[in-house]
Amino acid sequence: MTTSSPSVAETDLGRKRRARRIGRALTDAHPDAHCELDHSNALELAVATILSAQCTDKRVNEVTPKLFARYPGAADYAGADRTELEELIRPTGFFRNKTDSLIRLGQALVERYDGQVPGRLADLVTLPGIGRKTANVILGNAFGVPGITVDTHFQRLVHRWRLTAETDPVKIEHAIGALFEKRDWTMLSHRVIFHGRRVCHARKPACGACTLTKLCPSYGTGPTEPAAAAKLLKGPRARDLAVAAGLDPELVPAQAVAVEVP
Ligand code: SF4
Repeated sequence: MTTSSPSVAETDLGRKRRARRIGRALTDAHPDAHCELDHSNALELAVATILSAQCTDKRVNEVTPKLFARYPGAADYAGADRTELEELIRPTGFFRNKTDSLIRLGQALVERYDGQVPGRLADLVTLPGIGRKTANVILGNAFGVPGITVDTHFQRLVHRWRLTAETDPVKIEHAIGALFEKRDWTMLSHRVIFHGRRVCHARKPACGACTLTKLCPSYGTGPTEPAAAAKLLKGPRARDLAVAAGLDPELVPAQAVAVEVP
């Protein structure tokens, strides 16, 4: 596959246009993109996001049904028995620290917000266990307020695409926010993270099976040969991703489709 890598001397307008093309390609590649943490309200999402630190979303989703049933409101976390809560969330790792955060989160919500999760960034970031990244996840997915989630995948991909040279997450958030329509920020975040988990991996990105080759200055960071690249695709739609990149879906092994997406 031939590529025309964006030039080093790209103008701001050129970068914005390329960013929008990347956004459209991601929309086509990942129609299933969504928040991968199961939740039905803002408190559940806040709790799930705290549990997701250093843990896969899949593992969090295995723990939360029982947790949410046992602790339906902020007051339930505020008054939780520490040992019982620790046992429930132990599979997510760092369970003592996370238990601390959940109890203190429940207490802060009861004391300051009538037990409700507030819908403003300035309030959310004052809560225990909730940093700016988590706050943006909550705003975007529980309150419908557009937000950009700069996690490890998002950082890696926007750097590979050379959309910004910033390294500070807040500066990345602002730089990328300026390239896209605000209304698209939340879904863009999901799609970028989906692409990072399924195609553009940290160690070996599936360059030869990626739909962004013509827009990506880092094409060639991973294998470009179709058979080698197709093996690196992950998730239930791995074969659809191969087809979208113009490859034979049979090149994707069965285990790639069944593999747990990190
Ligand atoms: S997989 Fe390769 S071509 Fe695709 S976005 Fe990542 S670095 Fe670029």
